[in-house]
Amino acid sequence: MEQQPKELMEKIISLAKRRGFIYQGSEVYGGLAGTWDYGPLGVSLKNNIKHLWWKKFVDDRQDMYGIDAAILMHPGVWKASGHVDTFTDPLVECTKCKKRFRADQLENAGVCDACGEPTGEARNFNMMFQTQVGAVEDSSATVYLRPETAQGMFVNFKNVVDSFHPKLPFGTAQIGKAFRNEITPRDFIFRVREFEQMEIEYFIRESDWKTQFEYWKNEMKDWIEMIGIDTAKTHELEVGEEDLAHYSKRTVDFEFDFPFGKKELYGIAYRTNFDLTNHNLTYQDEETQEKIVPHVIEPTFGLDRTILAVLCSVYREEHTEGEVRSFLSFKPSVAPVICAVSPLLKNKPELVEKSQEVFKMLKKRFGQVMFDDNGNIGKRYRRQDEIGTPWCVVVDFDTLGENQELLDTVTIRDRDTGAQTRLPITELESYISEKLA
Ligand code: ATP
Repeated sequence: MEQQPKELMEKIISLAKRRGFIYQGSEVYGGLAGTWDYGPLGVSLKNNIKHLWWKKFVDDRQDMYGIDAAILMHPGVWKASGHVDTFTDPLVECTKCKKRFRADQLENAGVCDACGEPTGEARNFNMMFQTQVGAVEDSSATVYLRPETAQGMFVNFKNVVDSFHPKLPFGTAQIGKAFRNEITPRDFIFRVREFEQMEIEYFIRESDWKTQFEYWKNEMKDWIEMIGIDTAKTHELEVGEEDLAHYSKRTVDFEFDFPFGKKELYGIAYRTNFDLTNHNLTYQDEETQEKIVPHVIEPTFGLDRTILAVLCSVYREEHTEGEVRSFLSFKPSVAPVICAVSPLLKNKPELVEKSQEVFKMLKKRFGQVMFDDNGNIGKRYRRQDEIGTPWCVVVDFDTLGENQELLDTVTIRDRDTGAQTRLPITELESYISEKLA
């Protein structure tokens, strides 16, 4: 059944909270706008996505170097990168209720979203969070929480070249937190003040930029499909010249049809040699001794927006005879719990003991395995469906040999079809690994 967008968003937010994916930040103190905390299942989902990303873009390649730079960086970095002067959004204040908005996000330009009165003139608001290092509170001690992970890679460019002597083209990759003092954080984890990015800076010769841009755009498309984001809801947007960031000569945004509208999920930018030039960094070809400032293609992936796009893509409802079965149809490689193991009845010690054995075996192998003996079996299936567990294993009396032919076999149920298969316990690991692969 087609969901109403607002209703769908509410269902996802409520499921995420109820089942331990994502909680409001600092909730017991009334919350802190623009912050969200990931609970146990959210962390698991996030880690799976990070691992898959790192595997695809770093470990499976020979030309990529991982970086994990400090969040606090020398303020000179942000001066050189242009962020101190230009990383701003237009801020307006309502002349009556004094509420503040991002001018370009108002429903009606120049009119307060809250009370309908006119807003004042827009002024540039720098989105970097400032803090002080050390005990002295003067401007020389002002530092910024990084608003993007990219600069941590640029300033380590020479270090990587000196340590590894890579030949062009090659890239650096980083996953980490970024902070932006968004004027109006909104739409759950879509626009927040603290978030994670997964970014690549791919260093190339200028003459290759068009080919590399196309190549990386396709890699991003592959990734979107690989983790189960609905490709029919993903669109490419060629960013117009007037909207390009100060460092970019070409940008394509990947937009996604979120329930609250079509919005940017990822971006790919041709950053020219803007950053390396500003940091006075060069590259010398070891064979020809030629000295150049490499150009850069930057594919950037917001991790929190990835999670939201995945959740919106996999949320399903099945309506039968007045009953609603909601489930998250995660790809198994992304699912926070790979498999749940249950005894058919929780008050039969022999079933519990055997299911614990199976559980421990699978947990040792796959890690993200849950033991579930709450309520009846139907309820357990519903609960596991709701968190997107691809398989539920049940130990029953036949497992214990009530039917000798079925001794040491269990049922394994598929989340999406509800179909149950009987398998020897010894084949469970290979059955799951094959499906995971
Ligand atoms: P927007 O136009 O939505 O503010 P942006 O163009 O400023 O985004 P970039 O600077 O290109 O975003 O940042 C790279 C990626 O980081 C984005 O594609 C997005 O996935 C993520 N991102 C940026 N800002 C936020 C935010 N406030 N909350 C969550 N993710 C964000």
